[in-house]
Amino acid sequence: MKRYCVNCESETEMRERLEDLDADTGVFVRASVCTRCGESYTDAHEFERAEKEFKAKNVLVFEKKIVKLGNSLGLWLPKEISKAARVGENKAVRVYVDNQRRIIVEAAR
Ligand SMILES: [Zn+2]
Repeated sequence: MKRYCVNCESETEMRERLEDLDADTGVFVRASVCTRCGESYTDAHEFERAEKEFKAKNVLVFEKKIVKLGNSLGLWLPKEISKAARVGENKAVRVYVDNQRRIIVEAAR
């Protein structure tokens, strides 16, 4: 398929290629690659679609109430969250608070 390439300043042969948007989640964008200079082009709609897919795979939002557990406070982790973070019973985590009052729970390596 021929398309205008900004780099080559002419119509060139393009070939379709899937490019990683994010290697960990396996989200790809379809791109047209100039066979002359290698420049790749992705239209805005395709990029939006891929971004939505990326967000759907990465952002899990749950609103939970903090509960009293003995003398401490606790929070139940929904199964979807523990699965996505790959943490389970007895798994060590690090908990810290950032300067915007966000509580971050990170699986210890
Ligand atoms: Zn080109």
